[in-house]
Amino acid sequence: MYRAIKVRIYPTDEQESYLAQCFGNTRWLWNYMLNATTTAYKETGKGLSKAAMDKLLPALKKEYEWLGLAYSQVLQRVTFNLSSAFVNFFEGRAKYPNFKSKHGKQSIQYPQNVKLMPQDSFIKFPGNLGIVKTVFHKGLPDAKFTTVSISKNADGRYYASILFNQEDEPIAAINEAIGVDLGLKNFAITSDGSKYDLPKKLLAKLERNRKRKQKKLARKKDKTSNKRQKARCLVAKISGKISRVREDFLHKLSRKIAYENQVICVEDLAVKNMVKNPNLAKAISDQGWGMFLTMLKYKAERFGHTYQEINRFFPSSQLCSETLLPIPMLQKGYDSLKIRFIDCPHCQKQHDRDINAAINIKNEALRLLVSQYGLGVSPNEVTGELVRVLGTSTSAQGGDVRPKTSGRKKSTKSEAIPNDLGSLHSPVRGV
Ligand SMILES: [Zn+2]
Repeated sequence: MYRAIKVRIYPTDEQESYLAQCFGNTRWLWNYMLNATTTAYKETGKGLSKAAMDKLLPALKKEYEWLGLAYSQVLQRVTFNLSSAFVNFFEGRAKYPNFKSKHGKQSIQYPQNVKLMPQDSFIKFPGNLGIVKTVFHKGLPDAKFTTVSISKNADGRYYASILFNQEDEPIAAINEAIGVDLGLKNFAITSDGSKYDLPKKLLAKLERNRKRKQKKLARKKDKTSNKRQKARCLVAKISGKISRVREDFLHKLSRKIAYENQVICVEDLAVKNMVKNPNLAKAISDQGWGMFLTMLKYKAERFGHTYQEINRFFPSSQLCSETLLPIPMLQKGYDSLKIRFIDCPHCQKQHDRDINAAINIKNEALRLLVSQYGLGVSPNEVTGELVRVLGTSTSAQGGDVRPKTSGRKKSTKSEAIPNDLGSLHSPVRGV
């Protein structure tokens, strides 16, 4: 299991200009090789392999002397990354690789020979970069690390991301299974009835601040002026802060859910399809659902727990979670997203629309797992059996292993008919 630790680094002025050179060199090399392999692809139907790209390197270094200023393994990492990008493209996992731009985030990777010196607050890089001041906030995992990436954000901060290869012991979960429904009113709703929200007030405040700074930037017409440069940096700074606040929330909530539950059940997003609806598009990309699911998945794996997606077209919002019978949505006018509670004709209860959906997601995911593992039991009675099959016994450690609740948990139980766009799986008509 790989795990990346990101720390902030503080290069000196001299190191900054060396890094600028390296960022430029690797970007140039990437674009050069992408061009070469695209030409080869058009002519022969095949891209260049890593070995073929590496063969071009010595001649390039001779022709463009400055290219050799970057550490050789850093350059070789570029051909490695590009050839992987092509493999991913050919195997249908990714889009065709793009040219790299000098605007926005820059990065380089050191595949080996880096030394971490947490006691002295340094990282020692091979080649001309040398020793860079580093702030290590938390203890490093007791494991081998491989690649170290250095990146520079648009706001001018530098980070090193260290990739550890860690063997983790499975963590005994507190609960057997949980269903998670993602929504717009609440960020996440779980089958146990909890609702979680992004720190909306803080984000709104930061957004207002960003708007103000963007307006100021727009007023500075002279593209070359120092003042404009400064204004641009301020916008980038606040944008960085906004994404850090969001990511912090996503990390904490995904860790909590992945840690506490043996089986984590979610809907596959197919966000790409959803984003075609322009009204939902901004909301969805703002929410960071895709990033959240990625985090849930790798954290679940890290803890030795199971992450299970169900198909987005499963009608999770249109079934009674007690009887699994379809709720007649249209006749009752329940297709309106404003209606948050549904009087169920089957079990005679009033279902909270989102919690009901989360329970359905959990049941469906467990059903999928059951068919995968061939257990002849119905979804409602399956959790215990399934958890035994999947591994860890959950009862052994009781509640003692519960981590400090770090998510911004907000229990917003029953609220009357809020006005919002509803959750993902709900019918999006009229939105
Ligand atoms: Zn019902």
